Amino acid sequence: MSGKPGGDLTGKVALVTAAGQGIGKASALAFASAGAEVYATDINADLLAQMEGLPGIATRRLDVLDSGAVEALVAEVGRVDVLFNCAGVVHNGTILESTDAELDFAWDLNVKAQIRAIKAVLPGMVERGDGAIINMASVASSVKSVANRFVYSATKAGVIGLTKSVSADFVGLGIRCNAICPGTVESPSLQDRLRAMGDFEEARAAFAARQPIGRIGQPEEIAALALHLATATYTAGQIHVIDGGWTA
Ligand code: NAD
Repeated sequence: MSGKPGGDLTGKVALVTAAGQGIGKASALAFASAGAEVYATDINADLLAQMEGLPGIATRRLDVLDSGAVEALVAEVGRVDVLFNCAGVVHNGTILESTDAELDFAWDLNVKAQIRAIKAVLPGMVERGDGAIINMASVASSVKSVANRFVYSATKAGVIGLTKSVSADFVGLGIRCNAICPGTVESPSLQDRLRAMGDFEEARAAFAARQPIGRIGQPEEIAALALHLATATYTAGQIHVIDGGWTA
């Protein structure tokens, strides 16, 4: 161990989905700083282009809804020691404001895409007897009831269930599968949602006030937790809440 602060991923290969911006990008950078060879993937090639040439980062366009592409990338990479399933979509509204199509899309992106990526990397991890899988959930889920987040909460609760199930079946084979449950985090999509609410500053202040800590979290703060889970050797099947005290 070289003892890098925050965790050492020297010699490890990490695959991060939705790494073009927000929490995924901050986590890809944190993994690379810790010494990993990082495959930063996203559906948006323009965002990835801005990351090209960063030390330790290789970029690949990847739509996580395309299971063939996920399998092909894992085959190309050859070995994935750390998988961070970060891609996800927020849907606003109650159960009465959600359509089957919106639920199907969120189920596919927030839950089934994680399952497919795990299926692609797991055989190699089992063969090596070692692997870290980090799945992005949210406190809006089975952790906390949040208004107007029916589709989002139902699907993110699914992430917690799949995380615990994978852990139960594979922790004895050296696989640590954990979920992250953030509160409100500053990211481009959060800013889009705040702008869509009309008065950006008022909406931002209301979102900040939800957290007893009095502010919105930063992607780098979630990335630090992701790095911890990428290197931690004795936590598995857990939800890791990081929410400025929202659910405390
Ligand atoms: P973001 O929403 O700003 O960015 C999402 C990224 O996902 C974009 O780069 C986009 O191009 C990519 N993406 C979208 N569809 C994709 C697909 N099919 N395949 C591959 N990539 C795709 O980022 P964020 O707000 O940091 O959110 C990242 C994750 O964290 C999501 O799963 C989200 O639900 C979760 N989360 C976010 C917050 C928050 O407040 N920001 C809170 C809790 C959980």
